[in-house]
Amino acid sequence: MTTPDGAVSGALARIAPSRTTAMTDRAIALRDEGRDIISLSVGEPDFATPAHVVAAAKAALDAGDTKYTAVGGTARLKAAAALHFARDLGLQVPVSQVTVSAGGKQAIFHALLATLNPGDEVLIPAPWWVSYPEIVRFAGAEVVALPTTAAGGFRITAEQLAAAITPRTRWLLLNSPGNPTGATYPAEELRALGAVLARHPRVLVMSDDIYAPLRYMPGTHATLAVECPDLAERVLTVSGVSKSHAMTGFRIGVAAGPAWLIKAMERLQSHSSGNPCSISQAAAVAAFEGPQDFLRDWCERFRVRRDACVAALNAIPGLSTPVPDGAFYCMVDATPLMDHFGPADDPNRDEALALHLLEHGVAVVSASGFGGRDGFRISFAADDARVAEAIARIAVALSPAVLAPLALATK
Ligand code: GLU
Repeated sequence: MTTPDGAVSGALARIAPSRTTAMTDRAIALRDEGRDIISLSVGEPDFATPAHVVAAAKAALDAGDTKYTAVGGTARLKAAAALHFARDLGLQVPVSQVTVSAGGKQAIFHALLATLNPGDEVLIPAPWWVSYPEIVRFAGAEVVALPTTAAGGFRITAEQLAAAITPRTRWLLLNSPGNPTGATYPAEELRALGAVLARHPRVLVMSDDIYAPLRYMPGTHATLAVECPDLAERVLTVSGVSKSHAMTGFRIGVAAGPAWLIKAMERLQSHSSGNPCSISQAAAVAAFEGPQDFLRDWCERFRVRRDACVAALNAIPGLSTPVPDGAFYCMVDATPLMDHFGPADDPNRDEALALHLLEHGVAVVSASGFGGRDGFRISFAADDARVAEAIARIAVALSPAVLAPLALATK
C-alpha cells in the first residue's frame, strides 16, 4: 500500500507513527497468527481495573449516562480531579483550572497545539516518551533534545536547562517519574530548575506526573507547580487514571494549569473529540474519590518485579540497566552487542535488535523511539511469570550462539 504523493498534510508528513503502539499492534497481529509473543512493549498495568470503578461504569450505563457532557468534563469529575491533584500531588487548584480529556495524551496534544507556532522551540529531556517530539513537530515547532545519561540518573541539570533556553523557547516538557527511564526529580532539583525558569517568563512547563502514584522509593512525590509556586501560572500539570487505576482503555486524562491555557485546550477539544466518554468519566470519579489503598499493594508488587527484572537483565552479557525510581519501565542499554545489528553510524540499528527479539517471541520498543539509541525499553507491567519468561527468551536471543551467525550474515 503506497500513499499517493502529496496525499497527506505537511503536518502529518513531519511525524512518525508511535513506536509503542506500532510494536504493540505488531505483537497482537503475530499472536493472531498463532505465534507465542510476550508483549513488554506497551506500558499498561496487567492488574484488573478495581471492582468499584467497573461498578461505577456499569451504574452510569444503567442510569442512561450516555449523552454529551460539558466539553472539558463533568463538574463532578473536575472536582474529583481537583481532589486527586491536592491529595496525591499536593497541588491545590480550583475546579475552574482543571480539564478532562480522552487520556493524558490528548491533554498534552491540545496544550501544545493550542500554544505553539512555527519557529518555537520545545525542550525535551531525552530519552523521552515517544509522543512528545511528534506532537511538537506536528504543531510545526522544533524539538530541542536535552540529553541525559544513566550515570546522571536520566535527569537534566539546572545548568543544562539554562544553556538550552533561547528567546524562541516556548515549552519545557518534564516527566517525573519518567517514561521510559523511571527517573524521578527530587524537590531540590525541581527548585533549581525553577530558579532558571523564573528568569524566562515566556517559557511554559508541562509537568507530566501520570506515574506519580507508582514510585518505589521513600518520601513523597514532588511536582514543579508545588515546589515553585511563583511558576504555577505557567505550569500545566498532567495526570490521569490509566496507570494508577489500570484504566488504560477508559481514556481519561486530567490537567491543571492557568485558566487561559485550560480554556484554550477546551476550545480545541470542542472541535476535536468533544467531551471525553461519559461512562469513562463516571468511572474516573469513582477512581479518584474511592479507596486508594490497593495502590500500596500494586506498588509493592511492581517494586518486586522491578528488582527481579533489573537483576535478570543485568545478568545477560552485553545488557545493562539502572534501577528505575518509578513507573514500570526498564531502559536497557545493549551497546556492546549492537555491531550485530548494524553499523555504528546507524542511529536506528536498535530497530533491528527489537525485530530480532520479536523473532524470539518478545516485543520491546527500541531506544531510538525514545530519543535514545542502541538499546530498548521493556515494560514490566505484565504478569511475573511472563516477564521472567520474556527475559529468559531475551537471554537466549542475545546469547553468543544465536548472535554469532547473525554477525556473519551482516558482514
Ligand atoms: N504511555 C504508554 C507507553 O509508553 C502507552 C502507549 C503510548 O501511548 O505510548 O507504553
